[in-house]
Amino acid sequence: MSARVAVALVHHPVLARDGSETTSTVTNLDVHDIARSAKTYGVSDYFVVHPVPAQRALVQRIIGHWKTGSSGERIPTRGPALDLVRCLDSLDAVYAAMGGRASIRVWATAARPSESLLSFAAARESIARDDASVLLLFGTSWGLPRTVLDSANAILEPIGNAAEYNHLSVRAACAIALDRLLRSA
Ligand code: SAM
Repeated sequence: MSARVAVALVHHPVLARDGSETTSTVTNLDVHDIARSAKTYGVSDYFVVHPVPAQRALVQRIIGHWKTGSSGERIPTRGPALDLVRCLDSLDAVYAAMGGRASIRVWATAARPSESLLSFAAARESIARDDASVLLLFGTSWGLPRTVLDSANAILEPIGNAAEYNHLSVRAACAIALDRLLRSA
């Protein structure tokens, strides 16, 4: 029995270029591209977190476009992936949707190395061994702020060589992380 794994794409709070906390706007590509990765790797839910109702409405329009709109008719394989998308206004709402913060393991991601890193190998083994649900947090803009990183149970090791160029898109980072954690052996 392996753990349920969900993904959250966070638009608030996130870091701005100057290091302050801000709110980013939804990127169309993030919604369906990460949904496709999530579906591919058996992720249970893809939470898009945004506090602004108009931005959540935009996510719903994107979902509609790929499920029942012209693109959904043209490329029907996208629909099942978009079924995973759940748009909520906060991380607290995501925790509640997953049964409460105490019942889940929250693992954050960042390009910047930090302390208390969880290796992908250990994380993969933990998913296979323990039943407690896992929520993977991915940021937007300039990444997840300290407040979010500190609230997580662990921070996954950065992907790539953090010492040199390390500017993956969140879509690429999510796909790589899911493959390392969930690909069949
Ligand atoms: N400089 C930011 C940082 O340190 O995370 C990069 C932000 S990137 C545009 C948005 C998100 O993609 C990050 O919050 C993280 O979730 C993910 N990400 C980007 N590069 C990553 C890496 N090398 N390792 C792990 N996650 C990464």
